Amino acid sequence: MSRDEIIRLLILDTPADIEGLFKAADRVRKECVGNDIFLRGIIEFSNYCRNNCLYCGLRRDNLLAQRYRMEDDEILDLAKAIQARACSTVVLQSGEDPHYTGDRMRRIIGKIKDETGLAITLSIGQRPYEDYKAFREAGADRYLLRHETANPNLYANLCPGRTLGERTQCLEWLNDLDYEVGMGCMVGLPGQTAEDLADDVLLIKELGADMIGIGPFIPHGQTPLNDRKPGNALLVLKMLAIIRLVTRDTNIPSTTALGVLDDQCRKKAFEAGANIFMPVFTPGDYARRYDIYPGKGNVKKADGAILDFKGFFDSIGRPIGEGPGGRRRHK
Ligand code: SAM
Ligand code: SF4
Repeated sequence: MSRDEIIRLLILDTPADIEGLFKAADRVRKECVGNDIFLRGIIEFSNYCRNNCLYCGLRRDNLLAQRYRMEDDEILDLAKAIQARACSTVVLQSGEDPHYTGDRMRRIIGKIKDETGLAITLSIGQRPYEDYKAFREAGADRYLLRHETANPNLYANLCPGRTLGERTQCLEWLNDLDYEVGMGCMVGLPGQTAEDLADDVLLIKELGADMIGIGPFIPHGQTPLNDRKPGNALLVLKMLAIIRLVTRDTNIPSTTALGVLDDQCRKKAFEAGANIFMPVFTPGDYARRYDIYPGKGNVKKADGAILDFKGFFDSIGRPIGEGPGGRRRHK
């Protein structure tokens, strides 16, 4: 798809055309990754962050954030709970927290692998190549590092002290180390245009992402973007559908942020290209403090969320998949 074709799909406005886009994405999803929906259990183990992304409630300068760090054993126990709930993948997520040194992360990953055999996905931000390599050797299988926006100027404005080039360099290292790699962006960032979103799709295609997370930007009251408008849920769904059409056999979650903005849309995403559901296993008091955007801490916890969605998945004829549901590598 060319940039212009992607833009034409993004601005579709009649209900029939939009439904046509979703149906096409749903067909490609069925043909390329089948009907199964795979669960990925998330543990948000630290909300400390050395970064200062303008959009995020965990940013370093948010002095009102109540910070926490989990002990290694707490993380391991949660991974065991995930294993007991028919999720074959654990996602370890945090702010960029140097307190978890390369060695410490390596030990945590090794223990989880040895004691649970779960597929391990990391989402802990930018690290040196040596760390990524050590994590891979210790048993990490996948890495989520959203590129956030493919517009380099917008990226530099939103992530002070960082560049899009550094971000894509990390993605290339992860690819070289044979991780399954997750990219993704926010929709509705202040100043973002339809052209920027089309460039997001093209960058995801160019770098060959295996997993793609797309969510709306949701303004957080304790950040410099507190008075901006949130992203549009329908536009998120269109992006998700287009990315399914373009990338075909990738793993695409229906994201928590989409559910916070519009609960129905989180379900609708599964009929517009999504095939991954990510229940949150972070315990209540920590989850409340993992306050990336408003509403995030109130998201239903894993058991309730799985129960809620299971009925919906049954109603659309989509079984919960067994096994880790990784993507076959194409390199
Ligand atoms: N610190 C790691 C990183 O940035 O890659 C992982 C955790 S970070 C909180 C996970 C994702 O949250 C980011 O990639 C970003 O896309 C998303 N996020 C942050 N602030 C957001 C906001 N206000 N609205 C929606 N999504 C947001
Ligand atoms: Fe830190 Fe990630 Fe939030 Fe940026 S998006 S401030 S790196 S937690």
